[in-house]
Amino acid sequence: MSDICKKTLSEVAAMLQTGEVKAVDAVTACLDRIKATEPQVKALITVLGEEALKQAEAMDEAGPRADKPLWGVPLVLKDLLAAKGTRTTCASKILDDFVPFYDATAVSKLRDAGAIIIGKANMDEFAMGSSTENSAYFQTRNPWDTDRVPGGSSGGSAATVAAGQCFAALGTDTGGSIRTPASFCGIVGLKPTYGRISRFGLIAYGSSLDQIGPMTRSVEDAARVLQVMAGHDPKDSTSVEIEVPDYLAALGRENLEGVTIGLPKEYWGEGLDEEVEVSLKAAVAKMEALGAKTVPVSLGLTDYAIATYYIIAMAEASSNLSRFDGVRFGHRNTEAEELIDMYTSSRTEGFGDEVQRRIIMGTYVLSSGYYDAYYNKAAKVRRLLREDFEKAFEQCDLIAGPVLPTTAFKVGDKVDPLQMYLIDIFTISANLAGLPGMSLPVGLGKTSAMPVGLQLMGPAFSEAEMLSVAECLERNIEPMGMPEL
Ligand code: GLN
Repeated sequence: MSDICKKTLSEVAAMLQTGEVKAVDAVTACLDRIKATEPQVKALITVLGEEALKQAEAMDEAGPRADKPLWGVPLVLKDLLAAKGTRTTCASKILDDFVPFYDATAVSKLRDAGAIIIGKANMDEFAMGSSTENSAYFQTRNPWDTDRVPGGSSGGSAATVAAGQCFAALGTDTGGSIRTPASFCGIVGLKPTYGRISRFGLIAYGSSLDQIGPMTRSVEDAARVLQVMAGHDPKDSTSVEIEVPDYLAALGRENLEGVTIGLPKEYWGEGLDEEVEVSLKAAVAKMEALGAKTVPVSLGLTDYAIATYYIIAMAEASSNLSRFDGVRFGHRNTEAEELIDMYTSSRTEGFGDEVQRRIIMGTYVLSSGYYDAYYNKAAKVRRLLREDFEKAFEQCDLIAGPVLPTTAFKVGDKVDPLQMYLIDIFTISANLAGLPGMSLPVGLGKTSAMPVGLQLMGPAFSEAEMLSVAECLERNIEPMGMPEL
């Protein structure tokens, strides 16, 4: 692996600014690394080789720009973020040939900051899944052990960063899809507060849950990428109009004195694999040694979170995905003779099994006969869940817990959809409550030798505090390094 690819985004961005590394060198190093590792990892649906090189050449000619914090930095996007003129599939056959004519706001902000997009990452179809096994194209593998899943749904984004193919990737998180693959692949993944980053140009799954976020090899890198993307956007009325703090300035604290960390008893009990528990407890002990105070808290409705999430997410998905009908968007069956046959056959051919399952269930919970029993009930539980967090945050600044009950499992291990839904137990509550959450790699599990991620969650818009605590911990634990590939 070229030395350039071993650098963090923050390091390479600084070297690009001084001219020590040229934009062409950075892009070439990444493209070489992609070539060498893609046969095993399969993280990317699209690689933008020539285009990226051309862009880098033009940028080198003009010279670095101090006002552009990501100048010359190669990045990858999850393939549900619209990138002008680039195929954007959502890992679905139904969008196989979809080429947006506009950039998502998050993407145009990255470009304005000087980033070079070099690829589009594989994912679970329409972001539905936790392992990237639901992609209509191929399965992405975990760079730490290619027999294992990278997590999902942003599994391609996590794998490309972990494998050193780029310096950061964007993922999206509806119920854990940034934090889960970040945890399984040993990288940093941050799901910001709902409304912190514009969702314009993000092809929606569950609109009231979806958030875009950075996936990187260090906390500082995540802060840099978040800084560029955060803020109100007139094109997304749910993006919040509150000031964006200086996330980088928040980093570098000496210790964790004055910080209170809540440990929810529902997250630290039964069901947690021993190796995960051991790694996480060591991380919490480290936080205490750094001066943090820990207190037990309770998120009593955790048991209901899965049912609540899957009702709401499927309901919203069934509505969002109705636009893919072969007329306005998406694959069309050209042989059907009647209109209704055309809709049915186009959608049957275009959507995979998991997506169809969710459209059916989502339509069911929204139907007039069952709306009150399911959707309405779920909306009420969601509000109570939010209150649970509010109460917990009266006692602590941040919450710490697992991201997942286990480390990355083997490809094909979880064939039953329900089994797959259950592993989201610790991540979905943050989405239901709209709160920020992140995964920080804290070590390799003793039995599996696979990465373990610690989850931090905080009150709305507490990203600066969360990043600063995470960076202090990161600096004080043994770095995990990169997988050998
Ligand atoms: N695993 C969850 C689901 O399938 C979360 C996915 C996500 O966050 N996009 O819905």
